[in-house]
Amino acid sequence: MDTEEFRRHGHAVIDWLADYHAQIRSLPVQAASEPGSVKALLPDSPPLQGESFEAILGDMDKVVLPHLSHWQHPRFFGFFPSNSLRAGILGDLMSSGLGVLGLSWQSSPAVTEVEEVVVDWFRQMVGLSPQWFGVINDTASSSTLVALLTARERSTDYSLARAGLQDGGQRLVVYTSVSAHSSVMKAALLCGFGRENVRLIDVDEAFAMRADALEQAIAADLAAGLKPCAIVAAVGGTATTSVDPVDEIAAIAQKHGIWLHVDAAMAGSAMILPEYRWMWNGIEGADSVVINAHKWLGVPFDCSLFFVRDEPHLLRVMSTNPTYLQSETDGVVRNLRDTGIPLGRRFRALKLWFVIREQGVDGLQARLRRDLKLAAELSEEVSRTPHWHVVAPVVLQTVCVRFEPPGIPGEALDEFTRAWASAVNKSGEAFVTPATAGGKWMVRVSIGAPETTDEDVKSLWSLMQSVSADVASTFQTNQAGA
Ligand SMILES: *Cc1c(COP(=O)(O)O)cnc(C)c1O
Repeated sequence: MDTEEFRRHGHAVIDWLADYHAQIRSLPVQAASEPGSVKALLPDSPPLQGESFEAILGDMDKVVLPHLSHWQHPRFFGFFPSNSLRAGILGDLMSSGLGVLGLSWQSSPAVTEVEEVVVDWFRQMVGLSPQWFGVINDTASSSTLVALLTARERSTDYSLARAGLQDGGQRLVVYTSVSAHSSVMKAALLCGFGRENVRLIDVDEAFAMRADALEQAIAADLAAGLKPCAIVAAVGGTATTSVDPVDEIAAIAQKHGIWLHVDAAMAGSAMILPEYRWMWNGIEGADSVVINAHKWLGVPFDCSLFFVRDEPHLLRVMSTNPTYLQSETDGVVRNLRDTGIPLGRRFRALKLWFVIREQGVDGLQARLRRDLKLAAELSEEVSRTPHWHVVAPVVLQTVCVRFEPPGIPGEALDEFTRAWASAVNKSGEAFVTPATAGGKWMVRVSIGAPETTDEDVKSLWSLMQSVSADVASTFQTNQAGA
């Protein structure tokens, strides 16, 4: 592909994406694909001769588009919003188009310096003090892994410089809550703590970690001669947006010298709204925090911001310095490879920079407030409808609901809940995610696609009522026949 062909096909790609976004509303939200239906459309082996770009782009329509669930669809209420604002899409494209790698500052200075500045803008936007140093990682899972590695090294006075975890020292313990995201357990296992040394602390009726139970677990471990190492608290837990009490937990962490990592992957975006900063009261007492700009804020996946208070410690744990990467500027500049796991670094900061500049802080705040208002309205609507329940506090833009119609016995309600959620999704009209909270199945409505309107939420609510009524009648008949 030469320059002129690149220009022509590049325009065609942007046109394709512009049309996609313009017509997304007319597409079924959830793909109706069967397992294997995409593979069946693809040849088993690679083409020996190159193909025309038109043929390749044509397969986006034939092979890919019919088998997508559309996260940017205005009636996508599943999982969490991962919205790609158009400015961010262009920023991501720029990153690939430039093809530069930030192995060191010198390997492409703008990669490092734009990231340093934009991450610091972001720090100010969420109201963190200048004590914090941040970098961009791919995902919250990686950020939490790095947090637990740095915690492990602080507790062991840099065991990695000696025999690592092989020197038979004191057992280290990690604390998180039963509602923690699965990435926390995964990170703890990958760091070598071992499942036996991860404590899942009990939660209260709002699914938040109980500080008193945490305190007790720590005391029991200390009495048994173990070493409490890290606590991972959630601000905006996955299932219900639960909020662990960061201030109380930070006081406990400080008292015992335990690393406190705050997982604000989803809810961190809301910290750009001063009226929501109560959610992480006490955050200045934490050691690290992760916020995914690729969720609700509108930066295309992947863009996870990881902040730590002790930058020198992070660098000491994560850096290596092979000769081929050394340069005259070392010691004067930051080499961001020394802050995380990968050596290579994409120019991810571009998409964040584009989004913040194109939207302005005001624009970003306005969209978040729109979603918060829609969620509050839906929650009121559901609460005043007979047999419908909002089963968790609506802290942000996620509404957790359960429908308990008469005639369906308690033990069948879980199956019924999953059945009606699945029927909503199969309709293609909207997409929601069933999940458990407190051991019961419920349906999460997570609002926040870029173009979701009041009308979209209203049609979802009518759809939920009509579909669940249909499904209920089959359950009631089955019960009667059984
Ligand atoms: C989404 C989410 C994660 C995982 O995020 P990835 O970036 O996909 O690794 C972790 N914790 C919470 C609370 C989340 O909402």
